[in-house]
Amino acid sequence: MKKITCDACGQEIENPLPDGNYFHIEDWDVCEPCKESIELEIRPIMRGKVPFDYDWYRDLMVKSIAQRNAKLKGDVKRLR
Ligand SMILES: [Zn+2]
Repeated sequence: MKKITCDACGQEIENPLPDGNYFHIEDWDVCEPCKESIELEIRPIMRGKVPFDYDWYRDLMVKSIAQRNAKLKGDVKRLR
């Protein structure tokens, strides 16, 4: 079985189920808690965007995942 690791928190996702307990967004795999936390982070920014623009929203999500991933990689480097 294919193992999936969340790109935002680095945790392995057990019994990965697309759009169930993890989400594939662009090139990233994100677990459900991380997706929720990213959505919470983006929500206040989204309120200022009328009308809603899905591509723009997607872009914000991807940027936030990339930021978390960079931080994650930095942390790993520091531990070595
Ligand atoms: Zn995660």
